[in-house]
Amino acid sequence: MSDDLEPVNVSALNQYAYCHRRCALIYLENEFEDNRHTAYGNAEHARVDQMAHPSNREGARVEYALPIWSDRLGLIGKGDVVEFWPDGTIYPVEYKHGAKKQHDNDDLQLAAQALCLEEMFGRPIRQGAIFHAKSKRRREVVFTSQLRAATEQTVASIRQMLASRTVPQPLNNETRCRECSLIDLCQPVALGKLRLLRREDLFDPNR
Ligand code: SF4
Repeated sequence: MSDDLEPVNVSALNQYAYCHRRCALIYLENEFEDNRHTAYGNAEHARVDQMAHPSNREGARVEYALPIWSDRLGLIGKGDVVEFWPDGTIYPVEYKHGAKKQHDNDDLQLAAQALCLEEMFGRPIRQGAIFHAKSKRRREVVFTSQLRAATEQTVASIRQMLASRTVPQPLNNETRCRECSLIDLCQPVALGKLRLLRREDLFDPNR
C-alpha cells in the first residue's frame, strides 16, 4: 500500500454513507456502542464464520472472513464470504441482518470489496450479493461504472474527513438516529437544540 495513503476500512464506507458523523465517531474517536441492530449484525457475522455458506454455483470454493486490500485506493478490510467459481468468477457476498431491502450503504461496502478483490486477483468482478439473514434471500448487486465511481469518491471523502480530524454535525434524520447505536454518545437532539440557541443568540439585538 502506498505510504502516502492512510488506510480506510471497507466497513467505513457503510458507516459514512449512513451518517458522516457516525463514521467519524467510530474511526476518529474510537466510539462504538452496540444496540439491537448491531448486536444482531455481529452475531450474524460470527455465524457466517462458522457455517456453510450456500453458494448458488456448484463446485464453488468458499472463503470466509478473507483479508482484502487495495494499494491503489488505500483500502483494507475483510470479505464476509468470497465465492470462487469453477469458471474463474470471483463473487463477494456480504451478510446483513435485516430483511431484503436496497441500502446504498451496503452496496458501497460490497463494491469496495470487489475493487479490492479485482486488484488482488487481477480479474474483473462484475457482480456480488448482499445476503439478508432475516429473509434468507440474496440481493444481487451489479458493479456498474456509476457505483464504482461513487465508491472511489466515498473513499476519498472519508480519507479527507479523517485527515481533517473533524467530527461532522449530527444528521437531521429521526429514523436513522433512532436506529443508530451511537445515539446516546452523539446526542443529536441536544446538539441540534444547542445549535438553534446559538443561531438565535447571533440575531439577538440585545446581545
Ligand atoms: S445518532 Fe444520528 S447523527 Fe448521531 S451518529 Fe447516529 S445517525 Fe449520526
